[in-house]
Amino acid sequence: NKQVIFRDYVTGNPKESDMYVTDSSTIKLKAPQGSVAVLVKNLYLACDPYLRIRMGRIEGSSVFTSFTPGSPLSGFGVAKVLDSGHPEFKEGDLVWGTTGWEEYSLITEPEQLFKIHHTDVPLSYYTGLLGVPGMTAFVGFHEVCSPKRGDSVFVSAAAGAVGQLVGQFAKLMGCYVVGSVGSKEKVDLLKNKLGFDEAFNYKEEHDLDAALKRTYFPKGIDIYFENVGGKMLDAVLLNMRPHGHISVCGMISHYNLNQPQGFSNLTSLIYNRIRMEGFVVFDYFHLYPKFLDMVLPYIREGKIVYLEDIVEGLERGPATLVGLFSGRNVGKQVVLVAPA
Ligand code: NDP
Repeated sequence: NKQVIFRDYVTGNPKESDMYVTDSSTIKLKAPQGSVAVLVKNLYLACDPYLRIRMGRIEGSSVFTSFTPGSPLSGFGVAKVLDSGHPEFKEGDLVWGTTGWEEYSLITEPEQLFKIHHTDVPLSYYTGLLGVPGMTAFVGFHEVCSPKRGDSVFVSAAAGAVGQLVGQFAKLMGCYVVGSVGSKEKVDLLKNKLGFDEAFNYKEEHDLDAALKRTYFPKGIDIYFENVGGKMLDAVLLNMRPHGHISVCGMISHYNLNQPQGFSNLTSLIYNRIRMEGFVVFDYFHLYPKFLDMVLPYIREGKIVYLEDIVEGLERGPATLVGLFSGRNVGKQVVLVAPA
């Protein structure tokens, strides 16, 4: 059973050598008798930024626990059931949910698995558009931002798993949408493939405040969907319209810092009466059926496109995961472990 093993707690930028691939463990391809465990063959694994948080030493978090050095990473993935002691799952079922970074996993908490009922869309979508990133974009935008038609919306990390969907949901609502990304290739994709009104490369803007003010939002921002934190949030705070909303989804520029970073312009929240709200997608999973009802027709009618960046082979997992932090991924980063 090939596995990606977590070597030791990480500080600073994650490196490929913080993980290693081994083929030395064996697994019995049967669920233990009398247990509710489900044995799966992993097909796709999601590279998600929060995995970096789990590589650090976590103390006192109600959301995440640290990985255990010497054990395989775990995360969201798509898998096929090989054997099951749980009445809801049977051999041959396709599922998505929490699984190991390995070829085969024995899932001892099968309540963390969702059965896949719609297979007319690519299976890999259940790591992205139809999985956690899709739900994150949906609840972070529709539930947290309270958007209205005509709102001016700004999204950071806009070509990623979550950001590309926030932009498209906002366009479907009739908003004006601008995205920031880290390369020219991504700028072009946003404007030409994903339907954003405007896009810019934040690495080329020395004065983010001026860029937002003069070029993209001369009348200010109604909604900011925050994925990155750092200098971007500070610049956005200077450009929010009164009574605007900021949905704090993630702050990837902070995940590798050893010291917490502060912000300079938070007083804007007071004077502009801004509502800034963080959220954790798992609190909203009761909305998953409603989300599927909304998004599946959009996919089938071609009203939503979804960019994926799929690499083949578990052994490429470590380098691929690390690549998220330099923006190597274009769209949802997925590792293909085995074909269905
Ligand atoms: P992405 O697919 O967007 O991948 C990460 C991207 O972030 C990279 O491609 C890169 O794009 C950008 N990036 C990396 N480092 C930096 C940096 N230092 N400064 C600015 N941009 C950077 O990831 P996801 O869409 O999966 O996740 C987006 C955000 O949503 C993350 O912050 C994540 O933690 C958060 N999240 C929150 C959830 C919640 O429940 N609140 C649930 C799921 C995700 P580029 O080339 O543009 O720099």
